[in-house]
Amino acid sequence: MSGTRSGSAEVVGFSEALELVLRHAAGVRLPGIETVGLLASAGRALAVEVAADRDQPPFDRAARDGFAVRAEEWSNGRRLRVVGQVRAGEMWAGEAMGPGCAIEIMTGAPSPAGADAVAMVEHGELEGDTVRAAAGRRLRAGENIVPRGSEARRGDGVLARGTAIGAAEIAVAAACGRAELAVYKRPAVAIVATGDELVELTETPEAQHIRNSNGYALAALVTAAGGEPRRLAIARDTREDVRARIEEGRGSDLLLLSGGVSAGRYDLVEEVLAEFGAEFFFTGVRMQPGKPVVFGRLPAPESASGDACYFFGLPGNPVSTQVTFHCFVEPMLRAMCGAGAGLEAPRFVQATLAEEVKGKAGLTRLLPAVLRHDLERPEVRLAGWQGSGDLPANARANCYAVLPDGQDLRAGDVITVLLR
Ligand code: AMP
Ligand code: MG
Repeated sequence: MSGTRSGSAEVVGFSEALELVLRHAAGVRLPGIETVGLLASAGRALAVEVAADRDQPPFDRAARDGFAVRAEEWSNGRRLRVVGQVRAGEMWAGEAMGPGCAIEIMTGAPSPAGADAVAMVEHGELEGDTVRAAAGRRLRAGENIVPRGSEARRGDGVLARGTAIGAAEIAVAAACGRAELAVYKRPAVAIVATGDELVELTETPEAQHIRNSNGYALAALVTAAGGEPRRLAIARDTREDVRARIEEGRGSDLLLLSGGVSAGRYDLVEEVLAEFGAEFFFTGVRMQPGKPVVFGRLPAPESASGDACYFFGLPGNPVSTQVTFHCFVEPMLRAMCGAGAGLEAPRFVQATLAEEVKGKAGLTRLLPAVLRHDLERPEVRLAGWQGSGDLPANARANCYAVLPDGQDLRAGDVITVLLR
């Protein structure tokens, strides 16, 4: 017997679904904070602002190898006496540089007092212990010197809370002497694959069996989005099994289910979620692939002091699973990882379509596609697929071309592409 659907259930358009997810993402409770080693912070979101521990640069820094001079004297072509040398890591210990003098200086060395510019070594003519500008070479005051504190003043915030940490951010933190950073904890994400046909990788499938690839795809996607995946046992298409897995998974920060959300007789996921008192924000999206996707929230169990648990019921077809993850789960998860406002949204970019594509009325399509960046303008071409079960085609793709509802597109049209 197929059950009744929850009364609040609603099928929504693609952009409405995105808005709903982002609205919930904006209000999500952040996980706790932990302190991790600098390199271990890669891929996490910064929980406490990083401030400069000293001026950056900490001294007036020569940006070129050459001669610290008075710009005016250099520009006049005056022959200057080279009175010394200052290397990176040294501080000029002599007196302030007087008129008619130059000091040989290396990139990264502090500019000596009295000099107001650095002439590039290539622009000078040396003769004995004197130097002067090569014909036509002039210098402005301040040229090739990065003033102390011009990049950041001591105490200035240089990395904001919520910043996604990558190599550029690690470099900033290292420059501030931070061997550890406070980051948001990874939200625990329970993953439940449902289906009577599924077998685990350790099992030998018979002809009618399908390997549980979604469990692995989702675990990899969760990890990449900053979560901590927990793969639960496969739920068979029985109420008892689906109920047991939801019970097990609802204690996590987020619950993901794959399969069992379509209209088939044994698609029980929505029904069982409803029995738990789930609130549904949508029970389908006018998109392809991914139409049956479900988004909602389970109330905290009465016995527990924990929070309500957001869930997504993702369609079981493997490409649908991944597309709906990128569109809806990823933004939610990034927000749960502490990503700052705006950083959680799906990564849409514009690209030129390389071929003609027919639209489908009533559906936003997200088709596996290949985006090329090596051309003058980014160009996107459909990967070609056998439908939403075609994992190899999905793997050949590097993005999804977003084809608006019912619109026929021509080669040369600029379209939206979802990066993954
Ligand atoms: P469902 O959404 O349960 O109707 O499943 C749709 C299609 O996706 C069926 O062909 C399933 O065999 C396949 N499928 C469902 N779950 C998985 C999974 N975990 N891994 C691989 N394929 C799956
Ligand atoms: Mg199924």
